[in-house]
Amino acid sequence: MSRPLIERALRRQVERMRNIKVRGGSRVLNIVSESNVQAATGIQCQMVDGSLETLKSDLIVDASGNGSLTVQFLKSTARRPLAETSISVNTRYASALFERSHIPNDYKAVLSFPNAPEQGRAGLILPAENNSNQVILSGRGKDIPPIDGDEFLGYVRQLPTPTIYNAIKNAKRLSDITPFSFPESRWRHFAQVPDFPRGLLPIGDAICRLNPVYGQGMTVAAQEAKLLFDLLQTMDGDPLATLAPTFLTKAETLLADPWAMSAIPDFTYPETIGERPPDLEDRLNFQSALGRLAARDLEIYELLVEVRHVLKPLTLLDDPSIVTRVKEEIAGCFTG
Ligand SMILES: Cc1cc2nc3c(=O)[nH]c(=O)nc-3n(C[C@H](O)[C@H](O)[C@H](O)COP(=O)(O)OP(=O)(O)OC[C@H]3O[C@@H](n4cnc5c(N)ncnc54)[C@H](O)[C@@H]3O)c2cc1C
Repeated sequence: MSRPLIERALRRQVERMRNIKVRGGSRVLNIVSESNVQAATGIQCQMVDGSLETLKSDLIVDASGNGSLTVQFLKSTARRPLAETSISVNTRYASALFERSHIPNDYKAVLSFPNAPEQGRAGLILPAENNSNQVILSGRGKDIPPIDGDEFLGYVRQLPTPTIYNAIKNAKRLSDITPFSFPESRWRHFAQVPDFPRGLLPIGDAICRLNPVYGQGMTVAAQEAKLLFDLLQTMDGDPLATLAPTFLTKAETLLADPWAMSAIPDFTYPETIGERPPDLEDRLNFQSALGRLAARDLEIYELLVEVRHVLKPLTLLDDPSIVTRVKEEIAGCFTG
């Protein structure tokens, strides 16, 4: 499915729910407080006809992606400055739809990984609706995937593996080429705000934006939505008194693995800006040896994919049987 199809299908599902009213085309301008304890008690919106309206609320879930509404509210209510961790990655995308063509070897989808750190370009081809293939290119820094048709094909041709180029070289392009920039991964540590406002709860990318090249953001957002659902089932008395702090603390734990999985590979590139862990070299050696093993061993490959897609915990990669094999691979690499 293309992204617009996923979003349309989800929106229709939501619109079908009887207790939900969708106010399309409106924009939240501010979170407001009418209480002397500076709890969040409503939102000010600009409606589709341009009029302004204030809606009162018991609970605001800030799923705005950028999360600046929550940050702004914390500032306006003079709360302690928010701690953030960021990793500047400067990732660029270009993507387009092509007429469905045969992918060599009958592959269902192909992901061409970069030869890091010398090269940061990667490519992905995936079948999509309406008999199309979506082709997504990513690069870093100055290595920007182009939006001109011929240059786009040229970029695909220079990927480390030729499969994607061979699949699309004669295929008709069905859409414009769309660029997208992702400057930095950013994790806002809302759980550390001691007096987090009652009536407000950030979620998804509003808490943490992971580098999209690792494809984890939607999974994490869905896990957080499930966490919120579960908490609301179990809380009684005055749930809003503890909901946000409990949710934000548990979300912080939930985010640790995906963050580690995207932060470490990004630090492979010297131009990435952020706080590098002291044992970075060991971790990078481990990771690249694991990648080489996965290319040869289906079982390790499957495990690695499941861990990367947040289906299994990262700790499984610390299993002694895997660590031993990775160490042998590293030793072989230095001696051979
Ligand atoms: C190029 C790219 C590729 C990605 N690929 C993948 C992938 O393959 N797999 C994966 O799991 N994740 C991927 N992600 C990450 C994923 O898209 C996000 O993690 C996920 O969409 C976060 O969901 P969200 O609901 O928190 O925010 P969003 O999906 O960003 O939704 C926020 C919504 O809030 C609206 N909004 C913002 N401000 C306001 C306001 N003031 N008033 C009203 N509405 C507002 C926005 O218009 C938007 O509709 C990708 C991201 C990008 C950018």
